[in-house]
Amino acid sequence: MNDMQKEIVEGLKRFRLEKIEPLMEHDDFEGKFRMEIFNELGELGFTGMTASEEYGGLDLPCQDYSYALEEIAKSSVAYAVTISVSSMVQTIINTFGNKEQKEKYLPPLTSGQAIGAFALSESGAGSDAASLKTTAKKVEGGYILNGSKLWITSGGIAKTYVVMARTGGEGAKGVSAFIVEDGTEGFTYGKKEKKMGWNISPTRELLFENCFIPEENLLQKEGEGFKVAMSGLDKGRVAIGSISVGCAGRALDEAIKYSLERQQFKQAIFDFQGLQFMMADMACDVEAARLLVQAAAKSIDDGKSNQKLASMAKMRASDTAMKVTTDAVQILGGVGYTKEYPVERFMRDAKVLQIVEGTNQIQKVVISRQLKKEYGQ
Ligand SMILES: Cc1cc2nc3c(=O)[nH]c(=O)nc-3n(C[C@H](O)[C@H](O)[C@H](O)COP(=O)(O)OP(=O)(O)OC[C@H]3O[C@@H](n4cnc5c(N)ncnc54)[C@H](O)[C@@H]3O)c2cc1C
Repeated sequence: MNDMQKEIVEGLKRFRLEKIEPLMEHDDFEGKFRMEIFNELGELGFTGMTASEEYGGLDLPCQDYSYALEEIAKSSVAYAVTISVSSMVQTIINTFGNKEQKEKYLPPLTSGQAIGAFALSESGAGSDAASLKTTAKKVEGGYILNGSKLWITSGGIAKTYVVMARTGGEGAKGVSAFIVEDGTEGFTYGKKEKKMGWNISPTRELLFENCFIPEENLLQKEGEGFKVAMSGLDKGRVAIGSISVGCAGRALDEAIKYSLERQQFKQAIFDFQGLQFMMADMACDVEAARLLVQAAAKSIDDGKSNQKLASMAKMRASDTAMKVTTDAVQILGGVGYTKEYPVERFMRDAKVLQIVEGTNQIQKVVISRQLKKEYGQ
């Protein structure tokens, strides 16, 4: 880590231990998201890490962004995910928006006064996102949206939604991207999902019923929406990888500390070789996942964004988060399964990291497709 990265991580560590950590057990149980925490993260600059300084962002390199998300995830996967999705929306508007769109939508997002959400998935279109059915029909001065979006992170608490809808024929080329504001007539929220984890981060259905969106809210041109949606994917996958490393790292930390304290058979359980070997494997896996995530982040910083590396990082880091959190619960024994210790929360939060931003099976599809290309096929 360079000096700047150390400073970011130290600042975030102080903030999360003082302001986030004490609330997590309660808020996870209640499913309570606190806007004031997001606002405070915004005051420190951490809700606009990737956007350009011109619009209030920090314009940080992806490697710094990765360390920051890892650190937040050590206390809360949910707040880290809220920031990463909102950042993805900022990257999209920053990259594809025109001057007016950037001036209107970026400052509230970068400052943490508003949250951004990304709406691609539908009930019938998950991994096969290009088969989405929500329509945007061209009318005088704009478009009329009809349809619904499922599993949208920050649905209901976000103010700015990037929504993919069909303006043309079947497939990716018929999709366009729109900026939709909370409160737009014809845009309402459907059911809030009851989930295994990520309880602090609301996941909600979006409903569009004859919802008029002015022309100026179209991002780029008609038919370019799928390109827009996929553009932030490498960085989005690095973000999920970074959060996974934080989640796994915290579980490892809890397991080591507990095993050094807990006595059985008149000795610390840490001293049983069976557990030592487990923790050695866990530590090795966390380190390896971080290195892969940082390599993928560096490729983005070097302007050589690498799909294969981003997919590898997301897949390996989230699989590591699942394995390490599960092993941490095992090392804590009975109390590991209770809410007295946070490892069960991290285990529940880890699972969905293997599903979002492309399931880990889809990452294998991407990786193997690239391998085939590399061999000239
Ligand atoms: C908590 C949460 C938050 C989310 N947030 C957002 C969000 O903010 N915005 C958004 O747009 N979406 C979001 N999603 C949706 C998420 O991106 C999808 O759930 C994910 O892409 C998988 O789609 P699916 O659930 O329809 O599963 P499916 O696509 O139905 O997949 C089911 C199974 O089939 C496998 N599979 C599918 N295709 C293949 C293939 N070609 N080869 C091998 N296996 C395959 C999958 O890996 C999986 O195991 C969120 C989901 C959750 C649970």
